[in-house]
Amino acid sequence: MKANRCRNPIIVVDDLYVNFYTYAGVVKAIDGVSFCIERGETYCLVGETGCGKSVTSRALTRLILPPGKIERGRILYYPEPGKVVDIMKLSEEELRMIRGDEITYIFQDPGTALDPLYTIGYQISETMLVHGYINKIRKGVSRAIQLLKETLIPDPEQRIKSYPHELSGGMKQRAVIATSLANRPRLIIADEPTTALDATVQAQIMELLRNLKKKRGLTILLITHNMGLVAEMCDRVGVMYAGQLVEEAPTEELFRNPLHPYTRALLRAVPNPLRRIEKLESIPGTVPNLIYPPAGCRFHPRCAHVMDTCKRQKPELTRIGNKHYVSCWLYSRR
Ligand code: SF4
Repeated sequence: MKANRCRNPIIVVDDLYVNFYTYAGVVKAIDGVSFCIERGETYCLVGETGCGKSVTSRALTRLILPPGKIERGRILYYPEPGKVVDIMKLSEEELRMIRGDEITYIFQDPGTALDPLYTIGYQISETMLVHGYINKIRKGVSRAIQLLKETLIPDPEQRIKSYPHELSGGMKQRAVIATSLANRPRLIIADEPTTALDATVQAQIMELLRNLKKKRGLTILLITHNMGLVAEMCDRVGVMYAGQLVEEAPTEELFRNPLHPYTRALLRAVPNPLRRIEKLESIPGTVPNLIYPPAGCRFHPRCAHVMDTCKRQKPELTRIGNKHYVSCWLYSRR
């Protein structure tokens, strides 16, 4: 298994391939991605829009809807050390019992994650009802209030009676977080949880997630394109490009010693207030069309170090240092 790089994993993704069958052609969205998440850590998937971060995170609970299809790969979930569940072999019913209970999602836009027709209290209680923790919606009221308190929503007794349109963006995201905590989550997948919020609310929401993780001993998979968030929140980082994992390292190591030309370019493109520059750096070229991805290394049309091999053969993820892996012919032992 390529992805077995964790001592005490909560999830292991091995050689995952996801395609989307569109009228224009087959989009090879995820191409052999392998990684694992240690129990209790915050693991970040980072990369440009369209690089496959969200598709990967949704695939963890087979939340890929047609025309998307998981072509192959293994996804192993370890609810406890030594106990393993093969996600790909579960029935839809079995999977539904894990999704929203042990593995929960916080999506980018809280406005669309919440149902406009029901109150916040109803929606939190419904999550408990679906998973059998209560047998009537009204029995979830006190727990819903307690969960809203945990997310520091002011006046939670009133807020459970509010409809989503009556809440600010930050409050809505806190309500979504409360829903994700309602049952017994072990792994929370936060997909760009602050992108739709303004800067001060972003900071509050990330602080809240950090505190909840500590208090409840959660594991978090954070999907983001914001390198500042990565530096602040994450223990380890996986860098994705065009549906492939191109580098993985502990956060400090990645910032100190980025190896893959794409990671280096990504970090150079982040503005640094301490450095005077004439103009912001950008990565030349554009993200490839994944219906016709470039052969070999998918980054090769944009890479300043491209060699002949890069155009023909896909580099494997190779261990370079302590927990530091990179997929690039510059570092492969050929
Ligand atoms: Fe650049 Fe080649 Fe490395 Fe790809 S494999 S990033 S093209 S040097």
